[in-house]
Amino acid sequence: MFDWSRVQDLIRGIAASVAVISHDEANKLVIEACNEGFFRMIDVNHVCIDACPIPFEPLIPHYARTEFRQKLQECFESGVAQELEQAYDLRDGTHWWRLSLKPFRAVAGAPPIIGILVTGLDITAKVQLTHDLDVSTSRFRSVVHAAYDAIITIDQQQCITLFNRAAEDLFGYTSDEMLGQPIERLIPEQYHPNHPQYVRQFAQSPVRSRQMNERDRVYGQHRDGSMLPLEIAISKINVGGLLEFTAVIRDISDRVMLMDLLQKRAVTDELTGLPNRREFAEVVDKLLESDRMLSVFMLDIDYFKRVNDSFGHDVGDEVLRALAKVALNSVRKAAVFARWGGEEFVAALPGLSAEEAGVIADKLRSTIERQDFQFKWRLGSPVPFTVSIGVSARKPGEHDVDAIVKRADLALYRAKQGGRNRVEIG
Ligand code: GH3
Ligand code: MG
Ligand code: MG
Repeated sequence: MFDWSRVQDLIRGIAASVAVISHDEANKLVIEACNEGFFRMIDVNHVCIDACPIPFEPLIPHYARTEFRQKLQECFESGVAQELEQAYDLRDGTHWWRLSLKPFRAVAGAPPIIGILVTGLDITAKVQLTHDLDVSTSRFRSVVHAAYDAIITIDQQQCITLFNRAAEDLFGYTSDEMLGQPIERLIPEQYHPNHPQYVRQFAQSPVRSRQMNERDRVYGQHRDGSMLPLEIAISKINVGGLLEFTAVIRDISDRVMLMDLLQKRAVTDELTGLPNRREFAEVVDKLLESDRMLSVFMLDIDYFKRVNDSFGHDVGDEVLRALAKVALNSVRKAAVFARWGGEEFVAALPGLSAEEAGVIADKLRSTIERQDFQFKWRLGSPVPFTVSIGVSARKPGEHDVDAIVKRADLALYRAKQGGRNRVEIG
């Protein structure tokens, strides 16, 4: 019989929990030698380690005993080292231990196995940490999952690693379909060439998060091919030396639609649907940036007051709408045909001299005089009316819209003075 008491002194000072377990004559498991750490592990404080050998079964807490015994058995039978993790309930809470079991032979490498060396490490802190991490990961996951905004993460290769439920709703793909896919699949094709460069720039910049649509509108692409106006905030995180980008994405279709509507309202005349005076000035301002020739005409309905007085204001409104429709159809060369105000309208004709513009103006005048147009008069029979038009051309190098319009207005005045239903060139 091996004298285990010699080992006892050796293992007494080891910080880990150590024990050597063997069989007694009755073939029962016994702890032949152990240190205080082993007793602390199994929460035994009424037995002295000098009492070794101590029967294994009554000493080990019942909830850990079977598993421990089975591993010892496996180790004895197979001669191969075993590992197990066990939880022991102590007064100050549950402690987790990783036990490694190694066969102990009297002669190295040769049978028989005369005992098992058990070494235990307290891994409570690590288990706790893993548990806390699991909790925070699952909390993070449920927040991401339930988020109202779409959340997408891509790795350094710009492949999708996270695609939450809102992203599924927004883009029409399931998370399973998108994980591992290049982010390009969610970006309209015309933005593909620049995207990798944007990501690279952001990766290198010292800024950790930013709003993507600070300057321009940003679009995503739905599964059905439609473009989605989006608001995107992106942030980057360094995960073990690798950059990861997370985008929080909001669909702003409704907002964009509202903005477009407001924008349209601001530049449109409500009654006729034509551009308004402000929009006219803006368009002409742009046209004047080039040196190109430009003519303008101003149109005024003759005796419009009489139309209102004879047929009522609503019929007057219909006449204005009819005029807008006719003019849009016949002055196709105009860059813009707008309502100047009241019963006055203006057109800008780029590339045309005053004379050429005059020809077009006279055609329009004549069409109106002859009522040579289709219009569905909702309030009774067609109302006859005529118009007077004044034409002016841009002087070389002129950039003042108002001055050009003013000359057209003067020409218009002359047309009125000259008997109406005529075109005058200023
Ligand atoms: P002239 O041949 O000299 O241009 O005579 P006119 O009657 O057309 O000119 P005047 O400027 O005296 O009258 C313009 C009228 O246009 C007065 C105004 O009530 C009417 N008017 C202005 N805006 C509207 C509108 O939106 N709807 C209707 N129905 N009438 C309008
Ligand atoms: Mg007028
Ligand atoms: Mg008038």
